[in-house]
Amino acid sequence: DQRITRIKNLVGGFPDFPKPGILFRDIFPVLRNPGAFKELINVVVEHVQKTAPDVEIIVGLDSRGFIFGPMVAHALGIGFVPVRKSGKLPGETISVAYSLEYGKDRFEMQKDSLKADQKVIIIDDLIATGGTMAAACELVGLLKANIVQCFVVIELEDLNGKSKLSAPFKSLIKYS
Ligand code: IMP
Repeated sequence: DQRITRIKNLVGGFPDFPKPGILFRDIFPVLRNPGAFKELINVVVEHVQKTAPDVEIIVGLDSRGFIFGPMVAHALGIGFVPVRKSGKLPGETISVAYSLEYGKDRFEMQKDSLKADQKVIIIDDLIATGGTMAAACELVGLLKANIVQCFVVIELEDLNGKSKLSAPFKSLIKYS
C-alpha cells in the first residue's frame, strides 16, 4: 500500500530520546501533514472494517491512543473508552501495574466502561516491549470483554512486543 510508504516516510526518528540508547519514533510529523493524516486514519479504518467488521467499541491508550482511537471509533460509528494513567479517571476504577521501555506506571479503566463479551479493539500509536499493550489487555480482560484485536500504528519489531499478547495483533508500519 503506497499510502503506508508515504506515511512511514514522514515518521521521525530521534536517537537517544528520552534516554540514551533509545531511538524514538515520532508520529507527529504525520499528523502535521493534512494529506498524510487523513490517509493514516483512512487506512486504519479500512483495516478495521476488513479484519474486525463486528467490533463494537474502541479502547485507546494514554496518551497517543487518544488521538487515533476516537477518530477511528467516530468513523466506524462506534464508541470509545480510554485506558488512563493512574489517578485521572473518576468513579469506580480497576487498575494494573506495568513497566514500559523507560519507566513504570499504573493503568486504569472505569469499571462500567465495557460490558462482558463486548468486542473490543485496543489501539495505541506504538508497540515497543509490549508491556503497555499487555497491561491494557489485562484490564480489558478484567472487565471480561472480548479483545478481537490489538492494533498499533508503529511496531518496533526487534523488541518482539507482540509475544506478550494473546489476542490477535496488527501493526501498520514496522521498524527493525
Ligand atoms: P512498550 O510498553 O514498551 O511497548 O511501550 C509502548 C508505549 O510507550 C506506547 O504507549 C508508546 O506511545 C510509548 N513509546 C515507546 N517507545 C516509543 C517511541 O519510540 N516513540 C513513541 N512512543 C513510544
